[in-house]
Amino acid sequence: MSTSLEKIVALCKRRGFVYQSADIYGGLNGVYDFGHLGFLLKQNIKRYWIQSILTTQPNILFMDGAILGPHAMWEASGHTQNFHDPLVDCTNCKRRFRADDIDLAKVCPVCGKKAWTEIRQFNMMFKTNLGAVADESAIAYLRPETAQSIYVNFKNIISTNRVKIPFGVAQIGKAFRNEITPKQFLFRMREFEQMEMEWFCKPEETDKYFPEWVNARQEFYTTLGIKKEHIRLHPHAKEELSHYSSRTTDIEYEFPFGWKELEGIADRGDFDLTQHSKHSGKDLAVYDDEAKKSYTPHIIESSVGVDRLFLTLMCDAYTEDVADGEERIRLAFSPRVAPIKVAILPLVKNLSDSARKIYTHLASHGLMLDFDESGSIGKRYRRQDEIGTPFCLTYDFQSQEDNAVTIRDRDTMQQERVSTDQILEYIMRRLV
Ligand code: ATP
Repeated sequence: MSTSLEKIVALCKRRGFVYQSADIYGGLNGVYDFGHLGFLLKQNIKRYWIQSILTTQPNILFMDGAILGPHAMWEASGHTQNFHDPLVDCTNCKRRFRADDIDLAKVCPVCGKKAWTEIRQFNMMFKTNLGAVADESAIAYLRPETAQSIYVNFKNIISTNRVKIPFGVAQIGKAFRNEITPKQFLFRMREFEQMEMEWFCKPEETDKYFPEWVNARQEFYTTLGIKKEHIRLHPHAKEELSHYSSRTTDIEYEFPFGWKELEGIADRGDFDLTQHSKHSGKDLAVYDDEAKKSYTPHIIESSVGVDRLFLTLMCDAYTEDVADGEERIRLAFSPRVAPIKVAILPLVKNLSDSARKIYTHLASHGLMLDFDESGSIGKRYRRQDEIGTPFCLTYDFQSQEDNAVTIRDRDTMQQERVSTDQILEYIMRRLV
């Protein structure tokens, strides 16, 4: 991996992709805000995820569940008992660490003393109380994954949509984990966004669907322009499996800090629906008309963090090279995910009005644009290269004569003269 995380963090801050949350108050650890370009990049990630899920299998539904969930639900899912990380404190400097992150045979990396507490299990869910009541019925948790709201709505979903097993339910939404040591920027956050898809199928069909989903999910990353050699599969060994999973394959990316999980695909069996049936007292089994018996569907899940994928795309696209004898930073995003598709650059300010007309025309077709009239044209190109804009459109003096503009390609730096009535078609063709 050629780039460093520090360079990515600096670029994200400098160009307004990502801000530390509540920066002016000293920031909130593991929590980030996304600026204009960050918002646009996230939107593109979500859009292509939806498109990829919809084209992998037919019968995909969507939902948007609540973030707060009752104690009983997280009890049934196993999260109150199992969703924890091992925690250790340094009694000297009071710092906390994930016990599996450090070597307890050695001194504290912060204060240099060796004064560890016993290892304790730390539950990562954020707990809160609804209203003014103090008993257990008022306890709620911020969801650590979006999936549970899909499981508990299973009956609602099948009775309000005309779907038959197999079908999938996809959801994009916030999740919260009280990570002991949030780190590596957007890799491990306390508030983040997930894109999850739960595929409900007959028990005997999981062997067919599991590899199909793994392949499709892996392909998704190449369609986003991520280099194939930076992606690999990691099937979990038995001892690595989460409490709900009978088999899991991670899609890993080679981050600047090593190969790490980007997405997990898990065969959750009938664990979730069985647990929620038992705990709620509502039968979540379905009736098989052919076999004339009831059964509990099995679930294959794919789960990826929007923010972790955001970081992946930044790392993969980050390039330093030389253009026209000058060093430049270039985000070599696929045009699909690039936050800004076209920058409109009038050569001089008094050509701005005519250039604006092109801006308005392209914007009316939903293209995300930037309009930049300040500085030399070379400087303006560099600014766009650094945020990954694939096309720079220059409106020059000749444009008024020949009704054409120059379009420069970010990666090859080749320039083409394109007639103004052909611009939209030219751009659309190259954005796919
Ligand atoms: P890890 O081993 O990295 O802690 P996990 O196995 O706990 O991850 P899952 O529960 O499988 O993660 O979550 C599914 C996906 O959600 C992950 O693959 C990742 O993309 C994303 N994700 C999980 N935790 C975080 C986090 N703290 N910050 C950002 N994204 C996260």
